[in-house]
Amino acid sequence: QAKNEGGNTYHFFIKTMHDAVKQRRQRETELKLTLQEQQFTVYYQPRHFCNKEGICGVEALVRWQHPKEGLLLPNQFLEIASRSGLLPAIDEFVMMTACVQAKAWLDKGLRFGRIAVNVSPTEIAHPNFVSRVLDVLSSSGLPPTYLELEITERAILTNSDLAIANLLELRKEGVIIAIDDFGTDYSSLKRLIDCPIDVIKIDQYFVSNMEDGKSVAVIKAIIAMAKSIDLEIVAEGIELHMQMVELHRMGCDVMQGFYLAKPMPPEEMFAHIRLNTPEG
Ligand code: C2E
Ligand code: MG
Ligand code: MG
Ligand code: MG
Repeated sequence: QAKNEGGNTYHFFIKTMHDAVKQRRQRETELKLTLQEQQFTVYYQPRHFCNKEGICGVEALVRWQHPKEGLLLPNQFLEIASRSGLLPAIDEFVMMTACVQAKAWLDKGLRFGRIAVNVSPTEIAHPNFVSRVLDVLSSSGLPPTYLELEITERAILTNSDLAIANLLELRKEGVIIAIDDFGTDYSSLKRLIDCPIDVIKIDQYFVSNMEDGKSVAVIKAIIAMAKSIDLEIVAEGIELHMQMVELHRMGCDVMQGFYLAKPMPPEEMFAHIRLNTPEG
């Protein structure tokens, strides 16, 4: 009986593995087609000053408009994309789309602050990274000071020499560098503060756990450190009015989160910016 069960488990395991591999292959094939057929789209989420008026930034977030499954979120496909080498192409698509969009908003007189784009860790250390970003800027016509790159701590702690050299070069051109998900991943604070960065985004984990004194202590420490070396601070994942009030009291002025606005397609973002800028 036991042996029989073991055998079934084994076959079940093999079948599960097989299905998983098959599903992964299918996703990969789908992803490649998707790049060609342009099923990827970009959603935008604003950053607001804590008074809830005034937008000081917009983050571009990739979405996959799947023909059968509907709108897919990054955590449903970025890992597979990364393992199959498609992430650079996706990132480049998002950066180009976002920069073209931002330039169009600028031309219409909309003031949205900056456009922020997520860049995957492996990209930043790539020898061609600088020229690819500059190409996107020149072909979209967006001035470099309107572009912010959101990178993670990991991106500058691994491969750091090349990554830092690239970031320095882009920063010289006027591009803004932000550290995303700050506080969740760092191994060397010293290395980090030596890096060419302008903005720190406090991870939503701390924001969503603010009833815990330890999270509040971490937030206060991040804000104090960021201020002492003149970095801008953005808090992510604001879902409640109270979180905004508390963060403001602690010295953070810029907020991003569902409480202010969810990520939305470009037409909606256009209307949202217009509504939230004094002389739009
Ligand atoms: P992220 O860069 O930290 O972006 C913030 C994520 O939190 C977004 O999820 C956003 O929709 C979500 N969010 C914003 N406000 C709230 C809130 O109040 N509550 C909650 N629960 N969530 C909130 P999304 O769009 O699913 O993206 C997830 C992650 O995928 C991003 O995290 C980023 O790391 C990555 N990602 C997104 N687009 C790209 C891209 O074009 N390229 C690369 N390499 N990564 C991307
Ligand atoms: Mg981000
Ligand atoms: Mg984040
Ligand atoms: Mg995140």
